[in-house]
Amino acid sequence: MVNDVYNGIRQIKKEALEESVPIMQDETIDFITNYISSKNIKTILEIGTATGYSSIMMALSNPKVRVVTIEKDQERYKKALKNVKKMDLEDRITLIFNDALEVNLDNKFDLIIIDAAKSKNLDFFSRFERNLEVNGSIITDNLSFHGYVEKDLSLIPSRNIRGLVKKIRAYITFLKENTKYKTKFYDIGDGISVTERRI
Ligand code: SAH
Ligand code: MG
Repeated sequence: MVNDVYNGIRQIKKEALEESVPIMQDETIDFITNYISSKNIKTILEIGTATGYSSIMMALSNPKVRVVTIEKDQERYKKALKNVKKMDLEDRITLIFNDALEVNLDNKFDLIIIDAAKSKNLDFFSRFERNLEVNGSIITDNLSFHGYVEKDLSLIPSRNIRGLVKKIRAYITFLKENTKYKTKFYDIGDGISVTERRI
């Protein structure tokens, strides 16, 4: 049984890497699963499912964890459905196929993970902060964006990436200056932030 879980995960990860699906790095997953247990997190909303890897890892970290996760790419959504089924987690992982910016949810979550379009972090934050429990947290991935965010703009040849970097920097500034929330930034994986409400 334990071996099945291990092999299942290995396979999902291998396929994601082969298909260049940008799944979370091991140290990011480790950080998040530790955070989940230290804060006794039970309900998670994830923006950006891809093929379900991070949702599955979070669900496997504790049998009490339930995940709702949103993906707008149909192929990836289908693959995620398959993967969740394969890992026998259909009762704890709910997959939504839609653009997250079109999704309205009523329930509240202990943790919100933002890991979708990097230019839209602020839009996701604004849309879903009302779904955050009073003591809830928001974790955002890829704030370093392969190291580009720390680079001088003049050294980035791609116009697209420069645009993305500006957006990510603006999001970081938004988090730093926010009076409702306190944010810590970590040099883990591709750079993450942990935002908690100021009480
Ligand atoms: N969390 C995943 C990786 C997500 S990759 C893991 O670690 O396993 C980012 C995903 O976000 C992509 O699959 C992309 O299609 C999706 N995405 C981008 N913009 C989105 C949006 N507006 N709504 C929903 N999904 C979005
Ligand atoms: Mg990511």
